[in-house]
Amino acid sequence: TPIDRYAVMGHPVSHSLSPRIHQQFAAETGQKLEYEAILVPREGFSGAVARFRSAGGRGLNITVPFKEEAWRLAGKLSARARAAGAVNTLSFGATNDILGDNTDGVGLLTDLTCNLGLILAGRRILLLGAGGAARGVIGPLLAERPTTLIIANRNRVRAEQLAADFSLQGPISGCGLDTLSDEAPFDLIVNATSASLAGEALALPTNLTASQTFAYDMVYAAAPTPFMRWSVAHGAACAADGLGMLVEQAAEAFFVWRGIRPRTPSVITDLRDFLSGAYA
Ligand code: NDP
Repeated sequence: TPIDRYAVMGHPVSHSLSPRIHQQFAAETGQKLEYEAILVPREGFSGAVARFRSAGGRGLNITVPFKEEAWRLAGKLSARARAAGAVNTLSFGATNDILGDNTDGVGLLTDLTCNLGLILAGRRILLLGAGGAARGVIGPLLAERPTTLIIANRNRVRAEQLAADFSLQGPISGCGLDTLSDEAPFDLIVNATSASLAGEALALPTNLTASQTFAYDMVYAAAPTPFMRWSVAHGAACAADGLGMLVEQAAEAFFVWRGIRPRTPSVITDLRDFLSGAYA
């Protein structure tokens, strides 16, 4: 029988760590599969998916900028993908349907609660950003039953809209980044903006952090991000980047496709070493 094929599609995609992650998952679980990175032209997403599928592809991870398009392309959506408004995992079954799922939210929650040991029930959470990544984690964050979840975004209207969309699910509100100066410190601040990608620090007031604050940046890098450095410099207890989220969302996608859950700690360690240039 031909080997099962998987891939990540994005633009850009050449630096994606997903092939490295999934190859380790396959080895660890004893599954035979191939996983590659496919660069897709901005206007060519649906055609690329169709070609991959007719060549025998079994599933795809989807990254920037195609997550919304993948959501529209999927004929069937999981409940969490429907809520997220974005798809990062496609599965091609025996029928013609394309199944769309979103594992980003679970990935963040697994990293926060299992790997980093945080308890979110009864805590105050600040979520920075109102793009696709922020939307995908709101449902899972509210499910932990925080006392407060504030979404703050540069474009205030997007944050307010997002809060309105989830208002039935818990204590959530939205505001602009520039209106946080009266807030008490938060227990958890999640940076779901792409500011750190550009090496930029967000303009945040210093009342947000205190000794109980855990700062989490969804962006991952070889060195602490500007947001991580800002948080610790202003009194946060701890700061982490999004590498654990990346590995955990991949583990959940692997489970969706293969029905088996890979162990992640050694993969996170490997990627950390890889990112920091230890294999160069
Ligand atoms: P989007 O482009 O959909 O959203 C970007 C968000 O960042 C918007 O809220 C935007 O605000 C805000 N933003 C961008 N630049 C700045 C700035 N200079 N100052 C303030 N706000 C800014 O991106 P996504 O939501 O898809 O992704 C966000 C980040 O999360 C990315 O960096 C991505 O790499 C990371 N990510 C990491 C994952 C992981 O597994 N670790 C998984 C998914 C995403 P505005 O609305 O005002 O424009």
